[in-house]
Parts: sequence; C-alpha cells; structure tokens
Amino acid sequence: VHEPEMHDLDVSKLTVSLTKSPGKVPEPDSLEIWDMKTCTDHMVKVTWTDDVGWHAPTIEPYGQLTMSPIASCLHYATQCFEGLKVYRGFDGKLRLFRPDKNCARLVMSSARVALPTFNPKELEKLLKAFMKVDGPKWLPKSRPGRFLYLRPAIIGNGEQIGVTAPSEVLMFIVAVGWPDLSSGTRPGTLPKPPGLKLLASKSDVRAWPGGFGYAKVGANYGPAFVSHMEGRKMGYDQILWLLGADYQVTEAGASNFFIVWKTKEGNLQLVTAPLDAKVILEGVTRGSVLELARQRLVSGSEYLPPNITDLEVVERNFTMLEIEEAWEEGRIVEAFLSGTAYFITPVSAISFRDEEIDIPMGDGTSGYYAALLKKWLKDIMYGNVQHEWGVVI
Ligand code: PMP
Repeated sequence: VHEPEMHDLDVSKLTVSLTKSPGKVPEPDSLEIWDMKTCTDHMVKVTWTDDVGWHAPTIEPYGQLTMSPIASCLHYATQCFEGLKVYRGFDGKLRLFRPDKNCARLVMSSARVALPTFNPKELEKLLKAFMKVDGPKWLPKSRPGRFLYLRPAIIGNGEQIGVTAPSEVLMFIVAVGWPDLSSGTRPGTLPKPPGLKLLASKSDVRAWPGGFGYAKVGANYGPAFVSHMEGRKMGYDQILWLLGADYQVTEAGASNFFIVWKTKEGNLQLVTAPLDAKVILEGVTRGSVLELARQRLVSGSEYLPPNITDLEVVERNFTMLEIEEAWEEGRIVEAFLSGTAYFITPVSAISFRDEEIDIPMGDGTSGYYAALLKKWLKDIMYGNVQHEWGVVI
C-alpha cells in the first residue's frame, strides 16, 4: 500500500524536452524489431531522494544512463520493472490495456525491494503523456493493429555501497519496438510449428513460499536464465516452473499457465495456479482471462459459439502428476500461456521427467478456448469493441 510521506510522484510538474536527432522507425517484423533493442526517441525519468521524495518527472531524448559503480542496483538487485503494450486500434485510437493493474503492481514490486512507492495513478498519467509524444510516430493511424512495448523500471541509484535501502532512486520508462511473439517468425529462421513446447523444471526452483516470486523484480529473472538456456538447447521454448515434492505447476517462463481438462467425473474445467502462496506473478492477462472466462464461457452466454462447451473456472493448486494422469486417461483438452509478451499462446507439449506429454491443439493451430479468449482480448486492445479495459490515450 502506498502512503505518501514526502513529495509524491506528481505529473503536473512534468517537463518535456524534445530530441534534435529523431531516429528511424524499423519495419514491423524486421530483424531490428526481433532484436528488441530499438527504443523510441524519448524516455521518461524521475528521481527520488530520501530528503525530498519524488522530483519533477521529465520526458527527454532517449539516451544512456550514467551511474556510480557503487549504485545499489548493481550490487543488491534493488530493481523492479513492468511490461505493458500500447496498441494502435482499428478505430484509429491509441490504447493501453488495464494500465492501472501494471501501475499498482509496480508499486507493490518497488515496496518488496525497499524502493519507494508512489501514487499509481500518476504513473498511468506519465505513461499516457509519454505515448502522446512517441506513440504517433511509431504507431501511425494509417497502420492499425501495431503495438509498442513499454518498460517502466525503478532502480536503486546513487553512491552507496552500504547494505541497506538506497537513498537515491531512479524511475525510468522506455518504449521498445517488439515483435509479435505469439504468431510471428524471426526473419531468416524457418517458421516453427504452432504451439509452445514446455520443459518442466527439474531441481531448479523459480520461487518459494516466503520469497518474492509474486513481485516483478529482476532478481526473479536472471537466475532463471540458466534453465531457460538449457531448455532452449534441448528444443523447448519455455520452462514450466514446478514447486515442491509433489510437482505443483506454477507458471511458465514469463507467462501464467492454463490447462483445460475434464475431471474424472467428466466436468470441463479451465484451471490455473492460485495467487495465495505468493509464488507466481499476478499477470494482468491471467486476471483478464479468468474474468472473461467466468463471464462468457458459461452456459447461456451470448458470447459462447454454438460449437464450444461452457466450463468451470478454477484457481487451485494442481500438480504434474494430475496432468500426467489426465493425459493417460485422454482428459486433456488444451493448454496455453498468458502474458503481455507471448499474449495467449497455445502449448503443444510438456516434457516431464522422461515423458513427452503431447497436448491437443484444437484445429492444429490453437486450442479453441485459447483462440476465443485471444480474440476477445484483442478486440478490447485494438478497439474493435468498447470496453473499460481498453484505456484511450
Ligand atoms: N509471470 C511472470 C513471471 C511474468 O514475468 C509475466 C510477465 N509480466 C507474467 C507471468 C504475465 O503477466 P502479464 O499478463 O501481466 O504480462
């Protein structure tokens, strides 16, 4: 919870200084976009110091940061971040998708690593102000259906090697050209068959009760790269993170995991891991999938296509042993990942111990529920339907 003590983040104090050397916008799906390192012309910066609180925010030309070699973030992982997209709608408008959720999550993550909190509504205003400056050039009205990735981050800065909360902090926001990971292909590589292949984690654990798996802090990501790279070498796309002696399924890579199965009693369920153990990130996409499923995948819903059966939505602990059993008994219907980067992406296989569990893929390109949920979300993001989750800039 945010309780302002000193100067809170205040966007009415924003100053803007525009670049004199604007960059070129890469073509969508070009190598430059797939390299994910081209940022827009500007960035947001806000300093916090322990004597003043938040200083006036600035939008300034995109450029390098300089910092002391004894800055806190370089030694103690006093760092947190967010990831969300800005979309150019088919109605010509620029939109954020539920930015209030990302802003509130950044406040939570910041507090978890002893960094300052702020009024999340001010961060939302800052994101909008930034995209009023850089959005139109990268996402022209004439090319609807495109998006940019926004990366707000907060780092412990200043000169302080002491093992304690930093007395100086920097919040910054950059906007990065980003490929469509859910359906695109990197130029120069062969198109992959649809569906992600997951490798269930072995001895490695991503997060544990009492830890910080629920916060979006860098310390959750770097240490997971070893497993991720090993998985890649073996031909898998993401690690499915398990926890405990009973192989509880938590989340996959930087996405939440969903499975649709029939219970032994024959009930159709959409199942995902719960939040109460605080070991998974509360994905904005996850929450949206759950809400839409609870509203629309019910019997009698006007949204339910005639060929799709209603189902029960369940957040509970479940294990790989249950998935294995459901697979042996032919009860798995489909599985998918949800998140900002991979959006809704079907899962085609899970490797667990020495077994390859193949997951049905509906029409061959995606499970039917994943495709339906993806379409509903896309319609909101790109303004095909008016919905309170699509926030116009
Ligand atoms: N889990 C982890 C570990 C993540 O990093 C992300 C991406 N933020 C997600 C899940 C999905 O969250 P969201 O839907 O908010 O992108």
